[in-house]
Amino acid sequence: AGVDVYAVAGNPIAHSKSPVIHQSFAEQARQKMHYGRLQPDINSFALEAKSFFAAGGKGMNVTVPFKLDAQAFADVLSSRAQLAGAVNTLWTKDGKIYGDNTDGAGLVRDLLAQGIAIHQSRILLLGAGGAARGVIGPLLEQSPKCLVIANRSNAKAQELVKLFTDLAVSKEVALESRALVELEDAAKTPYPFDLVINATAAGLSDESPLSTQAAANIFVPSSFAYDMVYGKSTAFMQQALQKGARVSDGLGMLVEQAADAFLLWRGETLAAAIDPRAVLVKLRS
Ligand code: NDP
Repeated sequence: AGVDVYAVAGNPIAHSKSPVIHQSFAEQARQKMHYGRLQPDINSFALEAKSFFAAGGKGMNVTVPFKLDAQAFADVLSSRAQLAGAVNTLWTKDGKIYGDNTDGAGLVRDLLAQGIAIHQSRILLLGAGGAARGVIGPLLEQSPKCLVIANRSNAKAQELVKLFTDLAVSKEVALESRALVELEDAAKTPYPFDLVINATAAGLSDESPLSTQAAANIFVPSSFAYDMVYGKSTAFMQQALQKGARVSDGLGMLVEQAADAFLLWRGETLAAAIDPRAVLVKLRS
Protein backbone atom coordinates (compact mmCIF):
# COMPACT_ATOMS: atom_id res chain seq x y z
CA ALA A 1 0.00 0.00 0.00
CA GLY A 2 1.01 3.61 -0.36
CA VAL A 3 2.49 3.32 -3.85
CA ASP A 4 0.67 5.46 -6.41
CA VAL A 5 -0.70 3.47 -9.34
CA TYR A 6 -0.62 4.58 -12.98
CA ALA A 7 -1.27 2.78 -16.26
CA VAL A 8 -1.30 3.13 -20.02
CA ALA A 9 -4.51 2.08 -21.80
CA GLY A 10 -4.61 1.03 -25.44
CA ASN A 11 -5.59 -1.85 -27.68
CA PRO A 12 -3.28 -3.57 -28.40
CA ILE A 13 -0.97 -2.56 -25.55
CA ALA A 14 1.46 -5.47 -25.00
CA HIS A 15 4.35 -3.76 -26.82
CA SER A 16 3.91 -0.29 -25.32
CA LYS A 17 7.14 1.26 -24.11
CA SER A 18 5.33 3.62 -21.72
CA PRO A 19 5.84 1.42 -18.61
CA VAL A 20 9.62 1.30 -19.02
CA ILE A 21 9.77 5.03 -19.83
CA HIS A 22 7.81 6.01 -16.73
CA GLN A 23 9.77 3.64 -14.48
CA SER A 24 12.94 5.33 -15.75
CA PHE A 25 11.59 8.78 -14.85
CA ALA A 26 10.51 7.47 -11.44
CA GLU A 27 14.03 6.17 -10.79
CA GLN A 28 15.64 9.42 -11.93
CA ALA A 29 13.35 11.48 -9.68
CA ARG A 30 13.45 8.96 -6.81
CA GLN A 31 9.68 8.57 -6.90
CA LYS A 32 7.86 5.42 -5.89
CA MET A 33 5.15 4.59 -8.40
CA HIS A 34 3.64 1.57 -10.08
CA TYR A 35 2.89 1.81 -13.80
CA GLY A 36 1.01 -0.98 -15.58
CA ARG A 37 -0.81 -1.76 -18.84
CA LEU A 38 -4.56 -1.88 -19.50
CA GLN A 39 -6.20 -3.30 -22.62
CA PRO A 40 -9.89 -2.36 -22.61
CA ASP A 41 -12.17 -3.92 -25.22
CA ILE A 42 -12.81 -1.51 -28.06
CA ASN A 43 -16.15 -0.34 -26.60
CA SER A 44 -15.20 -0.51 -22.93
CA PHE A 45 -12.77 2.35 -22.35
CA ALA A 46 -15.05 4.39 -20.05
CA LEU A 47 -15.98 1.31 -18.01
CA GLU A 48 -12.35 0.28 -17.47
CA ALA A 49 -11.17 3.81 -16.77
CA LYS A 50 -13.95 4.26 -14.25
CA SER A 51 -12.98 1.14 -12.31
CA PHE A 52 -9.27 2.04 -12.54
CA PHE A 53 -9.83 5.41 -10.88
CA ALA A 54 -12.45 4.02 -8.47
CA ALA A 55 -9.83 1.50 -7.28
CA GLY A 56 -7.45 4.37 -6.47
CA GLY A 57 -5.55 4.76 -9.75
CA LYS A 58 -3.89 8.20 -9.87
CA GLY A 59 -3.28 8.71 -13.56
CA MET A 60 -3.53 7.12 -16.97
CA ASN A 61 -1.86 7.51 -20.34
CA VAL A 62 -4.12 6.78 -23.28
CA THR A 63 -3.10 5.61 -26.73
CA VAL A 64 -4.66 4.23 -29.94
CA PRO A 65 -7.65 3.88 -30.26
CA PHE A 66 -8.95 5.50 -27.06
CA LYS A 67 -7.83 9.16 -27.18
CA LEU A 68 -11.32 10.37 -28.14
CA ASP A 69 -12.94 8.19 -25.47
CA ALA A 70 -10.50 9.67 -22.97
CA GLN A 71 -11.51 13.18 -23.99
CA ALA A 72 -15.17 12.31 -23.43
CA PHE A 73 -14.28 10.68 -20.10
CA ALA A 74 -12.52 13.71 -18.59
CA ASP A 75 -14.51 16.21 -16.50
CA VAL A 76 -12.02 19.04 -17.05
CA LEU A 77 -10.00 19.55 -20.24
CA SER A 78 -6.91 21.68 -20.77
CA SER A 79 -7.21 24.14 -23.63
CA ARG A 80 -4.62 22.19 -25.65
CA ALA A 81 -6.64 18.98 -25.17
CA GLN A 82 -9.72 20.81 -26.43
CA LEU A 83 -7.88 22.04 -29.52
CA ALA A 84 -6.28 18.63 -30.11
CA GLY A 85 -9.70 16.98 -29.91
CA ALA A 86 -8.06 14.15 -28.02
CA VAL A 87 -6.63 13.28 -24.60
CA ASN A 88 -3.51 11.22 -23.93
CA THR A 89 -3.12 11.97 -20.20
CA LEU A 90 -5.71 11.62 -17.45
CA TRP A 91 -5.43 12.16 -13.71
CA THR A 92 -7.64 12.60 -10.72
CA LYS A 93 -7.75 15.56 -8.37
CA ASP A 94 -10.39 16.59 -5.83
CA GLY A 95 -12.77 13.93 -7.10
CA LYS A 96 -12.59 15.13 -10.71
CA ILE A 97 -10.92 13.60 -13.76
CA TYR A 98 -8.58 15.97 -15.62
CA GLY A 99 -7.54 15.47 -19.24
CA ASP A 100 -4.61 16.92 -21.18
CA ASN A 101 -2.78 16.23 -24.42
CA THR A 102 1.02 16.22 -24.32
CA ASP A 103 1.67 14.73 -27.78
CA GLY A 104 2.25 18.04 -29.56
CA ALA A 105 4.49 19.46 -26.86
CA GLY A 106 6.41 16.17 -26.97
CA LEU A 107 6.96 16.46 -30.73
CA VAL A 108 8.08 20.09 -30.47
CA ARG A 109 10.54 19.31 -27.67
CA ASP A 110 11.97 16.33 -29.55
CA LEU A 111 12.48 18.45 -32.68
CA LEU A 112 14.16 21.25 -30.72
CA ALA A 113 16.35 18.72 -28.87
CA GLN A 114 17.49 17.42 -32.28
CA GLY A 115 18.49 20.94 -33.27
CA ILE A 116 15.60 21.44 -35.70
CA ALA A 117 14.50 25.06 -35.99
CA ILE A 118 10.71 25.38 -36.17
CA HIS A 119 10.48 29.17 -36.01
CA GLN A 120 10.18 30.60 -39.55
CA SER A 121 10.44 27.13 -41.11
CA ARG A 122 8.29 25.70 -43.90
CA ILE A 123 6.48 22.65 -42.54
CA LEU A 124 4.55 19.92 -44.34
CA LEU A 125 2.34 17.78 -42.10
CA LEU A 126 1.16 14.50 -43.66
CA GLY A 127 -2.10 13.12 -42.28
CA ALA A 128 -5.26 14.58 -40.76
CA GLY A 129 -6.11 12.01 -38.09
CA GLY A 130 -5.78 12.24 -34.33
CA ALA A 131 -1.99 12.39 -34.29
CA ALA A 132 -1.90 15.25 -36.82
CA ARG A 133 -4.59 17.23 -35.03
CA GLY A 134 -2.74 16.90 -31.72
CA VAL A 135 0.46 18.52 -32.99
CA ILE A 136 -0.90 21.43 -35.07
CA GLY A 137 -1.46 23.80 -32.12
CA PRO A 138 2.00 23.35 -30.56
CA LEU A 139 3.66 23.66 -34.00
CA LEU A 140 1.79 26.91 -34.76
CA GLU A 141 2.81 28.27 -31.34
CA GLN A 142 6.43 28.13 -32.56
CA SER A 143 5.60 30.55 -35.42
CA PRO A 144 6.76 28.62 -38.48
CA LYS A 145 6.64 30.48 -41.83
CA CYS A 146 4.00 28.13 -43.22
CA LEU A 147 2.23 24.90 -42.37
CA VAL A 148 0.74 22.78 -45.13
CA ILE A 149 -1.50 19.89 -44.06
CA ALA A 150 -1.76 17.15 -46.70
CA ASN A 151 -4.06 14.16 -46.49
CA ARG A 152 -5.45 11.49 -48.82
CA SER A 153 -8.87 13.04 -48.39
CA ASN A 154 -8.42 16.78 -48.72
CA ALA A 155 -11.73 17.38 -46.90
CA LYS A 156 -10.26 16.24 -43.59
CA ALA A 157 -7.21 18.46 -44.05
CA GLN A 158 -9.50 21.41 -44.89
CA GLU A 159 -11.44 20.84 -41.68
CA LEU A 160 -8.23 21.07 -39.66
CA VAL A 161 -7.26 24.29 -41.46
CA LYS A 162 -10.61 25.81 -40.48
CA LEU A 163 -10.21 24.70 -36.88
CA PHE A 164 -6.77 26.28 -36.52
CA THR A 165 -7.21 29.40 -38.67
CA ASP A 166 -7.52 31.81 -35.72
CA LEU A 167 -4.35 30.53 -34.08
CA ALA A 168 -2.48 30.60 -37.40
CA VAL A 169 -3.56 34.19 -38.06
CA SER A 170 -2.48 35.29 -34.57
CA LYS A 171 0.92 33.67 -35.10
CA GLU A 172 1.18 35.01 -38.68
CA VAL A 173 1.54 31.52 -40.13
CA ALA A 174 0.32 30.68 -43.64
CA LEU A 175 -1.88 27.61 -43.03
CA GLU A 176 -2.99 25.61 -46.07
CA SER A 177 -4.33 22.21 -47.02
CA ARG A 178 -3.60 19.85 -49.92
CA ALA A 179 -4.67 16.46 -51.12
CA LEU A 180 -1.65 14.14 -51.06
CA VAL A 181 -1.83 13.67 -54.85
CA GLU A 182 -1.46 17.44 -55.35
CA LEU A 183 2.06 17.17 -53.94
CA GLU A 184 3.01 15.46 -57.22
CA ASP A 185 2.44 18.80 -58.94
CA ALA A 186 5.44 20.99 -58.15
CA ALA A 187 3.39 24.09 -58.93
CA LYS A 188 1.06 23.32 -56.03
CA THR A 189 3.75 23.04 -53.35
CA PRO A 190 5.70 25.90 -51.81
CA TYR A 191 8.63 23.57 -52.45
CA PRO A 192 10.96 22.62 -50.78
CA PHE A 193 10.02 22.00 -47.14
CA ASP A 194 12.39 22.37 -44.20
CA LEU A 195 10.45 19.93 -42.06
CA VAL A 196 8.17 17.11 -43.22
CA ILE A 197 6.24 15.28 -40.50
CA ASN A 198 4.55 11.97 -41.23
CA ALA A 199 1.51 11.70 -38.96
CA THR A 200 -0.26 9.09 -41.10
CA ALA A 201 -0.62 5.46 -40.16
CA ALA A 202 0.88 4.41 -43.52
CA GLY A 203 4.19 3.37 -41.96
CA LEU A 204 2.48 0.67 -39.95
CA SER A 205 1.79 -1.17 -43.22
CA ASP A 206 5.26 -0.40 -44.67
CA GLU A 207 3.92 2.23 -47.06
CA SER A 208 4.78 5.89 -47.48
CA PRO A 209 1.99 8.46 -47.90
CA LEU A 210 4.20 10.07 -50.57
CA SER A 211 4.50 8.82 -54.14
CA THR A 212 8.00 8.80 -55.62
CA GLN A 213 7.14 11.95 -57.58
CA ALA A 214 5.82 13.74 -54.50
CA ALA A 215 8.91 12.78 -52.50
CA ALA A 216 11.09 14.17 -55.30
CA ASN A 217 9.23 17.51 -55.16
CA ILE A 218 9.32 17.83 -51.41
CA PHE A 219 12.72 16.74 -50.14
CA VAL A 220 16.04 18.52 -50.56
CA PRO A 221 19.25 17.73 -48.64
CA SER A 222 18.46 20.46 -46.07
CA SER A 223 15.05 18.90 -45.26
CA PHE A 224 14.35 17.05 -42.06
CA ALA A 225 11.87 14.15 -42.23
CA TYR A 226 10.16 13.09 -39.03
CA ASP A 227 8.06 9.92 -38.85
CA MET A 228 5.82 9.57 -35.80
CA VAL A 229 6.07 5.80 -36.13
CA TYR A 230 8.99 4.44 -34.17
CA GLY A 231 11.19 1.39 -33.95
CA LYS A 232 11.85 1.01 -37.67
CA SER A 233 13.16 2.81 -40.70
CA THR A 234 9.97 3.44 -42.67
CA ALA A 235 9.39 3.78 -46.42
CA PHE A 236 8.85 7.52 -45.79
CA MET A 237 12.24 7.80 -44.06
CA GLN A 238 13.88 5.86 -46.92
CA GLN A 239 12.50 8.35 -49.48
CA ALA A 240 13.96 11.25 -47.50
CA LEU A 241 17.34 9.54 -47.09
CA GLN A 242 17.50 8.96 -50.84
CA LYS A 243 17.25 12.72 -51.35
CA GLY A 244 20.05 13.30 -48.84
CA ALA A 245 17.71 14.62 -46.14
CA ARG A 246 18.09 13.88 -42.44
CA VAL A 247 15.49 11.66 -40.74
CA SER A 248 14.10 10.74 -37.33
CA ASP A 249 11.57 8.24 -36.08
CA GLY A 250 8.99 9.15 -33.40
CA LEU A 251 10.58 7.55 -30.35
CA GLY A 252 11.76 10.89 -29.00
CA MET A 253 8.21 12.25 -29.23
CA LEU A 254 6.96 9.26 -27.25
CA VAL A 255 9.54 9.86 -24.51
CA GLU A 256 8.93 13.62 -24.40
CA GLN A 257 5.12 13.32 -24.22
CA ALA A 258 5.62 10.84 -21.38
CA ALA A 259 7.91 13.30 -19.58
CA ASP A 260 5.17 15.94 -19.74
CA ALA A 261 2.62 13.46 -18.38
CA PHE A 262 4.99 12.44 -15.57
CA LEU A 263 5.40 16.09 -14.52
CA LEU A 264 1.63 16.71 -14.67
CA TRP A 265 1.16 13.78 -12.29
CA ARG A 266 4.14 14.10 -9.98
CA GLY A 267 4.75 17.87 -9.99
CA GLU A 268 6.53 20.33 -12.28
CA THR A 269 9.24 20.78 -9.65
CA LEU A 270 10.64 17.40 -10.75
CA ALA A 271 11.47 18.80 -14.21
CA ALA A 272 15.10 19.27 -13.20
CA ALA A 273 15.31 15.72 -11.82
CA ILE A 274 14.30 13.84 -14.97
CA ASP A 275 16.33 13.47 -18.14
CA PRO A 276 14.17 12.39 -21.13
CA ARG A 277 17.14 12.41 -23.53
CA ALA A 278 19.00 9.90 -21.32
CA VAL A 279 15.90 7.70 -21.27
CA LEU A 280 15.78 7.93 -25.08
CA VAL A 281 19.43 6.86 -25.36
CA LYS A 282 18.75 3.92 -23.06
CA LEU A 283 15.70 2.86 -25.12
CA ARG A 284 17.74 2.92 -28.33
CA SER A 285 20.61 0.85 -26.91
P1 NDP B 1 -5.80 7.97 -37.31
O1 NDP B 1 -6.43 6.66 -37.62
O2 NDP B 1 -6.54 8.98 -36.52
O3 NDP B 1 -5.37 8.71 -38.67
C1 NDP B 1 -4.71 8.02 -39.67
C2 NDP B 1 -4.19 9.00 -40.72
O4 NDP B 1 -3.33 8.26 -41.58
C3 NDP B 1 -5.28 9.60 -41.61
O5 NDP B 1 -4.89 10.90 -41.96
C4 NDP B 1 -5.27 8.66 -42.82
O6 NDP B 1 -5.70 9.30 -44.02
C5 NDP B 1 -3.79 8.38 -42.94
N1 NDP B 1 -3.41 7.14 -43.61
C6 NDP B 1 -3.57 5.86 -43.18
N2 NDP B 1 -3.04 4.98 -44.07
C7 NDP B 1 -2.53 5.72 -45.09
C8 NDP B 1 -1.87 5.40 -46.31
N3 NDP B 1 -1.60 4.13 -46.65
N4 NDP B 1 -1.48 6.42 -47.12
C9 NDP B 1 -1.75 7.70 -46.77
N5 NDP B 1 -2.37 8.08 -45.64
C10 NDP B 1 -2.77 7.10 -44.80
O7 NDP B 1 -4.40 7.60 -36.60
P2 NDP B 1 -3.52 8.54 -35.64
O8 NDP B 1 -3.52 9.89 -36.24
O9 NDP B 1 -3.97 8.37 -34.24
O10 NDP B 1 -2.06 7.89 -35.72
C11 NDP B 1 -1.20 8.04 -36.85
C12 NDP B 1 0.19 7.46 -36.55
O11 NDP B 1 0.91 8.23 -35.61
C13 NDP B 1 0.13 6.05 -35.98
O12 NDP B 1 1.08 5.27 -36.68
C14 NDP B 1 0.55 6.21 -34.52
O13 NDP B 1 1.20 5.07 -34.03
C15 NDP B 1 1.49 7.40 -34.60
N6 NDP B 1 1.61 8.17 -33.33
C16 NDP B 1 2.86 8.29 -32.71
C17 NDP B 1 3.01 9.01 -31.54
C18 NDP B 1 4.37 9.13 -30.89
O14 NDP B 1 4.45 9.48 -29.71
N7 NDP B 1 5.45 8.88 -31.60
C19 NDP B 1 1.85 9.69 -30.89
C20 NDP B 1 0.61 9.53 -31.61
C21 NDP B 1 0.50 8.77 -32.78
P3 NDP B 1 -7.29 9.34 -44.48
O15 NDP B 1 -7.92 10.44 -43.68
O16 NDP B 1 -7.26 9.65 -45.92
O17 NDP B 1 -7.86 7.99 -44.15
